[in-house]
Amino acid sequence: MKIENDLQDFDSFGENHVGTSSNTPLRNDAFELSNEEKIDIIKDDIRHIMETLGLDLTDDSLNGTPNRVAKMFVKELFGGLDPKKKPSSSTFENKYKYGEMLVEKNITVYSTCEHHLLPIVGKAHIAYISNGTVVGLSKMNRIVDYYAKRPQVQERLTIQVVKELQQVLNTEDVACIIDAKHLCVNSRGIRDIESSTVTSEFGGKFKEEATRREFLDYIKLDTKF
Ligand SMILES: [Zn+2]
Repeated sequence: MKIENDLQDFDSFGENHVGTSSNTPLRNDAFELSNEEKIDIIKDDIRHIMETLGLDLTDDSLNGTPNRVAKMFVKELFGGLDPKKKPSSSTFENKYKYGEMLVEKNITVYSTCEHHLLPIVGKAHIAYISNGTVVGLSKMNRIVDYYAKRPQVQERLTIQVVKELQQVLNTEDVACIIDAKHLCVNSRGIRDIESSTVTSEFGGKFKEEATRREFLDYIKLDTKF
């Protein structure tokens, strides 16, 4: 009885998309297996799921699916679990003495909801105020992509991006807003195709109303290119 209650709790916990920590919950032995070994194991697991569903894996169309999905999980969708994939933290000296806010907006987010393993698709907007160090613009896209390529909770993704940039730029003055659709909400369950989820993390000066307002105003800029 107790176990049944616990299982129900876990089920509704995930259904409500509640996250537990700003760190991705990883086991200590997460990297003891090589990627090739992981693909080999997951391939069999996917085959087992498909066979359990009653699919005929000898069909030419389905035959390669277990291997294809296993490779996609390990190397693409969840490739950001691998610390070796973390973007290098090379920075530059702020030679122009540009001391205003820099905003990189509309960074594409492709992630995976860790409660349903369904896609999260959206945009991230990042801002920082340099205290002497700057990063290449594409670095922000790469950092978003690295943390997005994990089973994720949108709140955690937002915080992880800010923490990483705070460390790389050696300043607290970093902010991130993510606006994303969760296919587990849009395509199943409540099936609300229109709704999206907005999360934000404001560090340092971005906790101040005027700085935060400036960032939000830049995001609203609708320049035609
Ligand atoms: Zn979900």
